[in-house]
Amino acid sequence: MTVTAPDQLVSADPRDGRTLGQYPVHGTAEVSERVDAARAAAPAWARLGHAGRARDLDAWRRLILRRVGELVRLISAETGKTRADAQLEVILVADHLRWAAAHAGRVLRPRRVPTGMLMFHHTATVEHHPLGVVGVIGPWNYPAFIPVGPVAHALAAGNTVVFKPSEYTPAAGAWLVATFAEATGRPDVLQAVFGRGDTGAALCRSGVDKIAFTGSTETGKRVMAACAENLTPVLLECGGKDAVIVDRDADLDSAADAVVWGGLANAGQTCIGVERVYVHQDVADRFTETVVDRAAALRTGPGPDAHIGPMATPGQPGIVLDHIRDALSRGGRALLGGPESVRAPYVSPVILADVPEDADVLTRETFGPVLVINRVRSAAEAVERANACAYGLGAAVFSRTQATAIARRLRVGMVSVNSVLAFAGIPALPFGGTGASGFGRVHGPEGLREFTRTHSVARQWLRPPVQPLSFRRSDRTMDALVRLVRVVHGAGRSGPRQPGSR
Ligand code: NDP
Repeated sequence: MTVTAPDQLVSADPRDGRTLGQYPVHGTAEVSERVDAARAAAPAWARLGHAGRARDLDAWRRLILRRVGELVRLISAETGKTRADAQLEVILVADHLRWAAAHAGRVLRPRRVPTGMLMFHHTATVEHHPLGVVGVIGPWNYPAFIPVGPVAHALAAGNTVVFKPSEYTPAAGAWLVATFAEATGRPDVLQAVFGRGDTGAALCRSGVDKIAFTGSTETGKRVMAACAENLTPVLLECGGKDAVIVDRDADLDSAADAVVWGGLANAGQTCIGVERVYVHQDVADRFTETVVDRAAALRTGPGPDAHIGPMATPGQPGIVLDHIRDALSRGGRALLGGPESVRAPYVSPVILADVPEDADVLTRETFGPVLVINRVRSAAEAVERANACAYGLGAAVFSRTQATAIARRLRVGMVSVNSVLAFAGIPALPFGGTGASGFGRVHGPEGLREFTRTHSVARQWLRPPVQPLSFRRSDRTMDALVRLVRVVHGAGRSGPRQPGSR
């Protein structure tokens, strides 16, 4: 969390206000300077090749892991999240970094593609070239794991990066950038700019070759509008309202355990956190009871034994409270907690049931430790309700027999089957959403290609007997070609004639 002065960010622990660090607010001029330096460093970084870059990225990963305790303490202090949640975040950082470094060479190597009969005298190759400088704008809820996704993939693909951490988590951002410089001796390849929304907007307008943004849908729209001015490509990882479907044949105990963790870990401040649960009516009572029992046993507070820490930003408890009140005023029932659970900066678990689907808590991001459990008559109804939402980030399905079929029908970017959030821990799986959750992918092969310019090369290796791509072509040549094409396309010599065709 950050206490702000106009030209300084003062990073502070949301649990006790303790100052963690002070950072200058960068304006347009400083952002331009960083982008210029990153641009100057880009050719040498690209020339290193995949093996050279992998060596540097591996050195960075190993340094992060040698100093893992430091990063865990910093993330935990700056966001208030528990030590275990911060540890999980760093484990994911290491895994995704390793995957990007190890696989960029294979995924992005030039690839021959078939030319087709007409162009038989050519070879065709698809190459992936770095874009140049990538701007990464990160959120505060996972200040290391989330930005390292685009940072690692952009760097592995041969780009340099200018990274703007959230104003609430500048210290974690600064730590990542400093350790990269220390591990590689290349301070210009990954640089940080600090500030609030204005600094992010300046980065969008700075002439970088792509912006990878993670944050709310509203800010994502502003980012896209700013990028449109220079036709800067943009990748948007925005909010979510992830649903879990629990079918009648699910393993209820594991489903309840996963839903409680997926909805309440990191105090519910997870873009792919569970916010909605649709449970089959035949098993709803037993499932709901288990969820309530488990959630009631969790401890909320500042201590080291707490399962749920504070809300990381000052405005969030108010939003959570509004959503709870709105749900109850529309006839929803509180099975655990209620408005009294919100004692800023802490919110203890709240479980709601039978909430109308148009309530704020089911249509907007709540981003707090609040779960809504609504019962449905069938898996088909669960899918329909899950899909009737502007967001389309992640989802999960619990079922012994139908899970994969149900998963396929969900309009989201990622689904876990018989677990929650699992896709985020598998580096080869592309990560991203659809609809109001944004577009583009980080992680996996798609995550590497996002940060490249696809470059197609057609090379003529044989001078053809007839040349249609020349003013020297004759009518006879073109007529013969048309006849050939008709045969090749199965239209035959006597196929239907088009008006005006020869
Ligand atoms: P915000 O949208 O408030 O901010 C995201 C980033 O954008 C911050 O660095 C912010 O800076 C910056 N920013 C703000 N205004 C502008 C602007 N006009 N131009 C450019 N950049 C700007 O999101 P939060 O930080 O509150 O993060 C929480 C949100 O992120 C949730 O909606 C969550 O769902 C989403 N998220 C999505 C993920 C995904 O992968 N899909 C993963 C994690 C989170 P500053 O903080 O300094 O204002």
